[in-house]
Amino acid sequence: MARYIFVTGGVVSSLGKGLSSASLAYLLKSQGFKVRVRKMDPYLNVDPGTMSPFQHGEVFVTNDGAETDLDLGHYERFTNIDAKQSDNITTGRIYSDVIKKERKGNYLGKTVQVIPHITDRIKGFIKNDITNEDFVICEIGGTVGDIESLPFLEAIRQFSNDLGRNKTLFIHLTLVPFLKSSDEIKTKPTQHSVKELRSIGIQPDIVICRSQQSIPYEQRKKISLFCNVPIDNVIETVDVRTIYEAPISFYKEKLDKQVLRYFKIKPKKKVNLLPWKKITKIVLKNKKSVNIAIIGKYVNLKDAYKSLDEALIHGGIKNNIKVNLIRVESDNLKSTKISKILKNVSGILIPGGFGKRGTEGKIAAINYARKKKIPFLGICFGMQMAVIEFAKNVLKIKKAGSTELNKSCYPVIGLIHEWNQNGKIMKGTNVDLGGTMRLGLYKAKLKHNSLIKKIYRSNTIEERHRHRYEVNNNLKDQFEKKGMIFSGISPDNKLPEIIELKNHPWFVGVQFHPEFKSRPLSPHPLFFSFIKAAKHY
Ligand code: GLN
Repeated sequence: MARYIFVTGGVVSSLGKGLSSASLAYLLKSQGFKVRVRKMDPYLNVDPGTMSPFQHGEVFVTNDGAETDLDLGHYERFTNIDAKQSDNITTGRIYSDVIKKERKGNYLGKTVQVIPHITDRIKGFIKNDITNEDFVICEIGGTVGDIESLPFLEAIRQFSNDLGRNKTLFIHLTLVPFLKSSDEIKTKPTQHSVKELRSIGIQPDIVICRSQQSIPYEQRKKISLFCNVPIDNVIETVDVRTIYEAPISFYKEKLDKQVLRYFKIKPKKKVNLLPWKKITKIVLKNKKSVNIAIIGKYVNLKDAYKSLDEALIHGGIKNNIKVNLIRVESDNLKSTKISKILKNVSGILIPGGFGKRGTEGKIAAINYARKKKIPFLGICFGMQMAVIEFAKNVLKIKKAGSTELNKSCYPVIGLIHEWNQNGKIMKGTNVDLGGTMRLGLYKAKLKHNSLIKKIYRSNTIEERHRHRYEVNNNLKDQFEKKGMIFSGISPDNKLPEIIELKNHPWFVGVQFHPEFKSRPLSPHPLFFSFIKAAKHY
């Protein structure tokens, strides 16, 4: 039967609960256990799909097409276990499920309340879709003391009562600040945070203390005493130089050992930290580097392209080179200034995106990459922009555009029923994607003798999608005649998935998001190849 580990956070947000959960998951998995990692988010959106990356960072997409919190990306990257729809829930989804049930009359006349109806639904989520897992790690978003988190905390308290303390463990992650003026490490915020947690009825079993420097024995003892936690279960996590060091650092601090000791179980095999040591070394010691420009709308927010940043770094790891990410705000990119702004870059990447703002800058950058033969990777919206650039400047279709941005354009990008040929709007084609997103894994066939086939070394691939609009397949011949090859296509030959340029060393656009499948210990072939091309530029 599964054991459940609940991870809460205190004092401030952004302490690295996701990374701590992911690292613990790796350590347990590496010792032979089957693990799942899940996230409960206290906001009212039903899923993060509708949230702007400015607000909440990237939306992570799973194989089964769920739009989830970016922490699920950490979990996947550290554990190599594909996350599922059933691994992320929000307050919004919980409430909407409960209200739907209420409207159907399924509560048989009862008054529907937070306790027990909302908490029951949360408990249902925690146990749902678990088969033979040894450990289920559940991270609770937000910080203890937030109004929004309360039903989740109440639910995990009940859950632990229902299942028994020997099957559930509470980890609380807090901040232990260092005050420069008095040259002191302060444990008070941690004491208060644990007090708050205990007032809800949750006694943490392990306290992880995030700190800028190592916490002396005396202070650990104090935390142990005031928080009612054995001293060996006061675990410090000092800022790491790279996130790949986190599993190593938690192992040194014996986090996994204390978890196993708590549950009274022995590891099935010895932990393997070699891969993390190897990549930490590569990341930290690399002298050579390559500059990659990411041109997008949300570049100022660190987490907006989390998986993408990671995938580029993974590509660098495999090429033994450091990747410097140069973030360029597409709004500010005028064609006159481009050569100056992109002077020292060896690769240009346009990521996924929505809406018109910044598209001119993106198209100008693509034009620059195409003409200067700079390695270029366009992802989803980035690919669509590359197709528009080519249509406008090479095929000379002046009104070429995407119906997402301009309803009266010549739709080289559009919903299938909007594609037209020779100016005629086509209606009634078989697949109608109108208004819905294509989400999750879809197959694509790769063309013989194409660059993409060399990169993937496979005839077919499966990648994750998140988009509504498609490249107009009716224009395939026109594009190919002029050198833009549709080198990947959906199995039914209807939807172009990949484009590449014949007369360019490395120019690829993909309709999907390869970044979601890249892992530090197994970098994605597309990013490996892109960085390789940039290295040789
Ligand atoms: N906005 C575009 C579409 O919906 C691209 C989406 C994306 O880049 N993920 O098709």
